[in-house]
Amino acid sequence: MAIRRRRIESLVRELLTTYKVSAAPVPVERLAKAHGARIFYQSLEDDMSGFLYRDNASAVIGVNTHHAPVRQNFTAAHELGHLLLHDQEQLHVDHGFRVRLRDDVSSQGTDEAEREANLFAASLLMPKEFLEADLASEESVDLLDDGLLCDLARKYGVSTQALVNRLKNLGYIQE
Ligand SMILES: [Zn+2]
Repeated sequence: MAIRRRRIESLVRELLTTYKVSAAPVPVERLAKAHGARIFYQSLEDDMSGFLYRDNASAVIGVNTHHAPVRQNFTAAHELGHLLLHDQEQLHVDHGFRVRLRDDVSSQGTDEAEREANLFAASLLMPKEFLEADLASEESVDLLDDGLLCDLARKYGVSTQALVNRLKNLGYIQE
């Protein structure tokens, strides 16, 4: 069940460099557009996070406006990840990202694709280098400080939970 971490990291770095993104928040919509995908924010069924529809010429990313803005950001980045990393069916629908992982009917391949899209989204929204710079500029970093975490999460347009997960992944917070 290995996911392509290196590939995802280098893809994200390439995107940020190509489109000269050097500070948070990362403009997911602009990056998607550059890859021929338009993002539509719309009212979808509650259990649906978003979807990716594509044909040969173009792609459409749908994001459910019933969910919090930080989740909408994550969904948009997740779908962009599918677009750039996966050759899936024409219409790919995402329900709650976590629920799917417990779904034993889904194939291993699908789980990997979901995990890769999640890793892509976290890496894109919270680039390693940006976090490093932000944390280096802090006089002393106390990652158990809710205030600091909230400020950072707001800056990156993510939930504090997503931020904490990312910081754990990068080794800033010990499990
Ligand atoms: Zn997905």
